[in-house]
Order: sequence, then structure tokens, then C-alpha cells
Amino acid sequence: MGKYGTAGWRNWAGTYAVTPARLYHPSSPDEVADEVRRAAEDELSVKPVGAGYSSNDIAMTRGVMLNLSKLSGIIEADERTGLVTVGAGTTLRELNRDLWKLGLSLSCLGNLDAATIAGAIATGTHGTGRRFPGLASQVRRLQLVTAAGELLECSAEQNPELFAAARVSLGALGIITAVTLQCEPAFVLHSVEAPADYDDLLEVLARLELKDHFEFLWFPHTRRVLTKVQTRLPVNAPLQPKSRARGWYDDKVLGTVFSGMNRLSSTWPGVTGKVNRMATKALPERSYTDQAHRIVSGSGRVVFRQMEYAVPRTSLAHVLDSLDDWLQRSGEQITFPVEVRLTAADNIPLSPGFGRETCWIAVHQYHRRPHDRYFLAVEAIAREVDGRPHWGKLHYRSAEDLAPVYPLFDEFLAVRDTYDPDRRFGNDYLRRVLGS
Ligand SMILES: Cc1cc2nc3c(=O)[nH]c(=O)nc-3n(C[C@H](O)[C@H](O)[C@H](O)COP(=O)(O)OP(=O)(O)OC[C@H]3O[C@@H](n4cnc5c(N)ncnc54)[C@H](O)[C@@H]3O)c2cc1C
Repeated sequence: MGKYGTAGWRNWAGTYAVTPARLYHPSSPDEVADEVRRAAEDELSVKPVGAGYSSNDIAMTRGVMLNLSKLSGIIEADERTGLVTVGAGTTLRELNRDLWKLGLSLSCLGNLDAATIAGAIATGTHGTGRRFPGLASQVRRLQLVTAAGELLECSAEQNPELFAAARVSLGALGIITAVTLQCEPAFVLHSVEAPADYDDLLEVLARLELKDHFEFLWFPHTRRVLTKVQTRLPVNAPLQPKSRARGWYDDKVLGTVFSGMNRLSSTWPGVTGKVNRMATKALPERSYTDQAHRIVSGSGRVVFRQMEYAVPRTSLAHVLDSLDDWLQRSGEQITFPVEVRLTAADNIPLSPGFGRETCWIAVHQYHRRPHDRYFLAVEAIAREVDGRPHWGKLHYRSAEDLAPVYPLFDEFLAVRDTYDPDRRFGNDYLRRVLGS
């Protein structure tokens, strides 16, 4: 997670560090409101920070940084309706664990459970599955502190314009103190991982996207793909989890070996193709069954740089083929697999999944190797098909070229003008992507 050290506050990826004027850990919504009013008196900007897993500068501030880790845990739960209210600083790991005890699950499960609920929804965090939009679509109510230091409730009935925009807010509309989520009855997942051939990908995709959840990893410089398919089972289905030894092996041994392989290709980039072919062999076919969140989510062991683009589902084959073509022409050597996931359309103004069935294409680069050339090439390909960047990952976009791909961009800016006219929650990132 993000850390506060001698160089100031630094995000998990180590891509950005900043020394805020003040750092506070408020322990109630009223204390958050007090801090916002105090910052206004001192003419300082304010930024809430979650767990610091965004790899860009979205959470950075030289003003007042508020860490909401004390606003954590379930505040209220109705097991009958599945409506659960949690403190904004609750990590997804705590939330998944506590929901399971209540017989509930989140519908959308991303790969990272160390993120906070507020940070995850603010950046449009998503999982995978053709029937499931991103996590913010599960939000039914928000409590937030506005730039005026006022504690407001919002929902589809109360302050509806603010609610619509604040589900994916980029941290620009206020400091969320509590989130009410629509959860669903707890479920188990049966997961099958199997290799496939890149050249059969369209056929594989047509089969896989009918499953509840699926993703695949394509290893650049090879024709190999690893597919991961997850099928929902009732909560009382017999579990066959990864053995502890297997979990330890995956996390520690494969993590360390993968890190070693990356170091090797950093020194000798020419061996990357061989390294990738070895990696595909180290991931054999296997299956296991476990509580949904245990199957999907982890904490991210190997440090990397990442970019992820949301593109229309129908553009996937074009994007991957263009990327394969660019890799062959450019000579760029990439060890990390390209990860592909799928989500349903949603109706949230700044959600990258707004209004369209979306394929998410995530690219990664080892933190000791340069990433700009690769990421710029991916971005150029994604822009050709109206791609929208993940708000919490690296990208090079700005307001002028983001506005045309978000039909409700101006409506979002209008809500921001109403609730934060002086840009109390502004920072460099927001100036770039929102234009002021
Ligand atoms: C290893 C790894 C795996 C990942 N896997 C996925 C994945 O599967 N799917 C996916 O979509 N993303 C994924 N991500 C991206 C990640 O989910 C997002 O970057 C998310 O924002 C991280 O949450 P955080 O708590 O660390 O937020 P931070 O990075 O700390 O903050 C992000 C933004 O949220 C704002 N914010 C935080 N708290 C509040 C609040 N209380 N009120 C208002 N705004 C607030 C901050 O101001 C900032 O603008 C992954 C990242 C990593 C490093």
C-alpha cells in the first residue's frame, strides 16, 4: 500500500511521492468536515487517500491529505435486502470477509483486495463477467463531505445529480465517508485455468464469455494464452480450495521466480521471448473451488507499472492484433502478460464502462524497466477505437481528448462546479483530466 516515509507519501507502485502540508487520520465524518473547513481557512487543497494503489498521481496533494483508515468496517447491514453500509476507508479484504459472515458477497470482484472501497469506486474499479458492471454500479447511497464542509447524503432520491456523478468521482466531488452497497447472497466460485492458442482466441472468447466470469492472459512474443473461467455455485457447494502449500507456492515461489525472470530480461531483453514461453509452461491446467473473494482477489506481490484501457467489446480482436503487430515491428520486449477482462455497460457519467459492453485490456511493465514507449503505443491503438483509460492507472490523456469519449463529461463538470467551485479537492491530475 501507499506509505508515508522520509520522502513524504508514496504510492504502492513508487511512481509518485509528495510531501503534504498536513496529514490527518480523522476518526468520524464530523472530523473530516472540520478538516475540510480548516483547510479552506488556510487556503489549502484537501485530498482523501485510500490505500495508495493507484499508479498515477490521482491521490497526490501538497495540501491536506486525509487518510480515512479509521472510518472502517460495516456500519449497518440488512441481510434480507443485501444493503450494507460501510466506512469509506474499509479495505475490500475486510469487507469481503465481513460480508461472507453475513451470508453476502460483492457481485463485482477485482484482483486487488487491499484497496479501500472509496478508492476503488472513485477510480471505476472493475472485475470481470459479461453480466456484471464495475463495483460503483453496486453503490446505492453515499455520505460525503462537500467543499463547503457540509455532510451530505446522496442517492437516486436525495441529491440525485451528485449521486449519479459521485459514484465514479475521481475524488473530485467530495470526501466520501460512508458507502451503501447492494450486495447479493454469498456464492462460491469454481475456477478452471487452462492454456489456449492465441490464434483460436475468437472462438475461445465466444465460448468463455458465456460463463459467469472469465479473463485471459496473453503472453507477448508467444502464441500462448492462459484462460481463467469462474462459474458461480451455491454457497453450500463443497469447497476444494488451493492447498495452503499451493497458495504459498503461487504467492511466494512463483512471485519470486517471476520477479527473477523480470530482472533477467531487464539485463538481457533478448531473452524475453524464451522467458515468456517458460512462464506459460509454469502455469499448468488446474481447477479449484472456494469462497468467491478468495478465488479472485490478492494483494499484488511483484511491483509493476500498469495501464488499462476500456475499449468497446467489438474492438477487442483489432486491438490485440494491432498490439501484436506493433510488438513485432518495434522490437520492444515485454515479460508481463496482457490481461483481458469483460464487463457489462453501466450508466455512470465518468465510468469507463459508460454505455457500452467493455473489454478491459491491461498492460504491465516491470518497475525496473522503462514503460513509456510500450504504454504510449497501447494508448495510440486504444484511442483509435475510442478507448477510455482506467482512472487509477497510468495514462497520458487530458481533458480535451477525454471529453469526446464521455457523453456526460460536461454534466460531470457542472456537478463539480456546483459542489467544488473553488477546487478544494483539486490536484495536478484533476487539472489535467478535467481541465481545471
Ligand atoms: C496490484 C493491483 C491490482 C489491481 N487490480 C485491479 C482490478 O482488478 N480492477 C481494477 O479496476 N483496478 C485494479 N487496480 C487499480 C486499483 O483498484 C485502483 O487504483 C484503486 O483506486 C485503488 O484503491 P485505493 O484505495 O488504493 O485508492 P487510492 O489510490 O488511494 O486513491 C484513488 C482515488 O480515490 C480517491 N479517494 C480515496 N478515498 C476517497 C474518499 N473517501 N472519498 C473520495 N475519494 C476518495 C483518492 O482521492 C484518489 O483520487 C489494481 C491495482 C494494483 C496495484
